[in-house]
Formats: sequence, C-alpha cells, structure tokens
Amino acid sequence: MDVQQKAFELLSKYPLCDHCLGRQFATLGYSMENNVRGFSLKVFLTMQANDLLKEKPDEGFAKLHVLATHGFSKTAQCTLKHLKREYNFSVEQCFMCDGTFDKVEELTQKTLSVLEGYEFFTYLVGIEMPVKIEEREDEFKAVFDINVAESMKHEFGRLFGKALNARTGKEVDYLIPDIVIVINPFLGNIKLQVNPLFVGGRYRKLARTVSQSKWFCSSCRGRGCEKCGGTGKLYSESVEEFISKPFLEVSNGVDSFFHASGREDIDARMLGAGRPFIVEISKPKKRFIDLKIVANAINTGAMGKVEVSELYFTTKDKVRRLKKGEGAVKEYRLLVEFENDVSDDCLRLIEEKLVGVTVKQQTPLRVLHRRADLIRERYIYKVKVKKVSLKMALLEIRCQGGLYVKELVSGDETRTVPSISGLLGNRAKTLKLDVLNVVMDDN
Ligand SMILES: [Zn+2]
Ligand SMILES: [Zn+2]
Repeated sequence: MDVQQKAFELLSKYPLCDHCLGRQFATLGYSMENNVRGFSLKVFLTMQANDLLKEKPDEGFAKLHVLATHGFSKTAQCTLKHLKREYNFSVEQCFMCDGTFDKVEELTQKTLSVLEGYEFFTYLVGIEMPVKIEEREDEFKAVFDINVAESMKHEFGRLFGKALNARTGKEVDYLIPDIVIVINPFLGNIKLQVNPLFVGGRYRKLARTVSQSKWFCSSCRGRGCEKCGGTGKLYSESVEEFISKPFLEVSNGVDSFFHASGREDIDARMLGAGRPFIVEISKPKKRFIDLKIVANAINTGAMGKVEVSELYFTTKDKVRRLKKGEGAVKEYRLLVEFENDVSDDCLRLIEEKLVGVTVKQQTPLRVLHRRADLIRERYIYKVKVKKVSLKMALLEIRCQGGLYVKELVSGDETRTVPSISGLLGNRAKTLKLDVLNVVMDDN
C-alpha cells in the first residue's frame, strides 16, 4: 500500500479530520496519536501539491483545494491564500465522526464533574457508539480496503482514558475497576456504573438473641404489621445489621449485602477468633475508609452482642471462596441435658463411639421448611465430654462444617445416625450452643 496515495484517495472522497484520517493507518508507527498521523499526512501532501504547481499547476491547485476543504488543513488553506487563490471554504463536518473528536476536552470536563463526590482508586472507560456510525465506519473500511486501522470506539476509549488519567491521577483497571464510566461521545451522555465495595473480617457473636442475618417478618414480608410490632422483622437485632449499618453510613452507599462462611443459630454464640464474613456495599460514594474507625463504630454500637476484627478490603471473587469455606472444620461447645441420669461410663461411650465417625444426617425437621430434604454425611474428628451434673454434660466437638450438632445430640427422631440419644438410649437435648472456631484461611 502506498500510504500517501491512499490518504489522498480517502480525502478526495470524504472530509476527514486529523483523527479520522490518521486512524486509518493506526498500526503504522508507534508512540504517536492518530491526529498526529493525520496531521503529518496532510502536511506532507500539501508540500507535495505545492511542489507540483511548477510542472502541473492545475493538478497542484486541485490537490491543495482538496486538502484545504476535505482535509481542514490550515497549511493548505494558508498556502492557497499566499498564492492569492480563492477557494470555496466549505463548512462540512468530518464524514466519520461528525466533528466529535473536537469535543473530547469538553466531554472530559463534563465527566470530571459527574465524577465529583465519588471516591475511587481505579476506573475503566466504556464507549457507547451509535449503530449507524459504526456501520458507516465498517463500510468505509471495506470500500477502501483498509486493514491497518483502529476502530473509532477504541480510539475514543483510549483518548478519554488518557485524559482522565492525566486529570485524576487514578489508574485504569480492566478487570475490577471501582467505577466504569460509560461515555457516548455522540450524544454527550455520561453514565457511571459504581461497583460495590467489599470489606471482609471476622465476627464474634456474644448474645443468644441476635440472628445472623436480617429476617423479614413472615406475615408482612418487611412492610410492618401487628405481629412484628411494625418493625417488619422477625428478630429485632442481627449481626448483619450491626455490621452493615456503620459501613453504609461511612460509605454513603445505597444498599448492603452480608455474606458469611456458614451460619449459627440465633441462640448459639460465635466465639473464638470469630466467623469469616464479607460485607458488600452497593454504589458507595466513599471508598477511602479507615477500617479501624468503622470497627470501632460497630463494636461500640453492638457492645456486648457483636464484635468485629481483622477488617480488610477485598473483592467479589473472595465471596465465592467464603461460601465454599462453609464446609470448613468447625468446633462447637454444647451444654447437654439428659432425660435420665448418666453414668461416667455412658459419657466415655460417647467419646469412643463418635470420634472418627461419619454421621448420616437427614435434613433436620426444624429447617425442612426452607431446605431440601436430603441425607448428608459429615465427619467427626474429636469429641470431649465433661460431666456437669447427674443429668448434664459439657461437650466439645470438632467436626466437618455443615453438621447439625443439635440433631447429633437429639437424634432428630432417628433422622441423624448415630446420635447421642440413640447411643445411650437416653433422650438428650442441647441447652446452650457455642461455636468456638471456624477453621479457615480467609485472606
Ligand atoms: Zn473525524
Ligand atoms: Zn410483620
């Protein structure tokens, strides 16, 4: 391909701005913008046409005329003026972009004002193009047999990306940007897609009256009714609310979602190092958050009920890992009451018969209304039994996550086998339950 000949061929047919001419040769030569390519080609072609005037004045003037009009070339325009040649100065627009590349600076300013009030570390620019403009571009490339071009959409994306990087100092992130800025340069529209903020940590639950997640009242489904005292909630307090509220306030977000690695019953405490969780805040305005201050706010607001520690910023894919960790090893402590007195031999029997055993457990009756009825198998690593009184014992159990330990005690009408009630032939029930440890690498 003869680049200068091809460039002049394009300009003869259509008016093209520096960007749109240069972009047709975008893969030739590195480290320069398309408008520099286009400008340089036009300057070169003007010099060539000027030189042609000596031998073929008509052809030379015709070429200068093309460059002065279709090329918008100041050099060609001044050359013609200098030679005292009138030319028909048309007010045509660039055939490809309708002059939209002239608006990049203006749109950059507008984008900056839309971004005001949002804190972000990283961003990505997305470009929306009118279909008819893209179709016109494809047809143009096909007609002129151009195969060294960049697409207009791509060039706009690069230009806005560069301009915003220069003004904000923020980095472009193609994978997980904090904010995606969608610009339609032709309509002058700017839309923001603000990605969620994820913060992980561990919580301890010290009260037996706090549920893990916010439960809507089943009668009114959150609207508030007589049964729930107008609160719309089944339980008045939850770990989710204690943790999410301070985050929502400090980030000025719209909504929050609470993800945890497994759950404990409302009447079970969560002790030890706590249970891993991730709180997700949608559409946050603030991201430059001091996690120590938030941890303080949570721990003060939920004093004696919920405590958080080890807060850290994280990402969406960690939520999936957190959910996978539901099967991680757990340690429980239970206070168990028996119907009849138990001997020391009986208690020793529990340790002997349950350690290293795989328990077959059909979905407990108490959760059957919201869980599928199936049989799961869970392994028990360790059991320690301590007698408290004639009818009471303290049990520490280390087992595979997902084992329903209350049913391991009661037997759940033989839906759990083996069980403590079944082994001893002595009905047992759990009075108090604590989760002592969730063994998991959550970072
Ligand atoms: Zn153009
Ligand atoms: Zn209600």
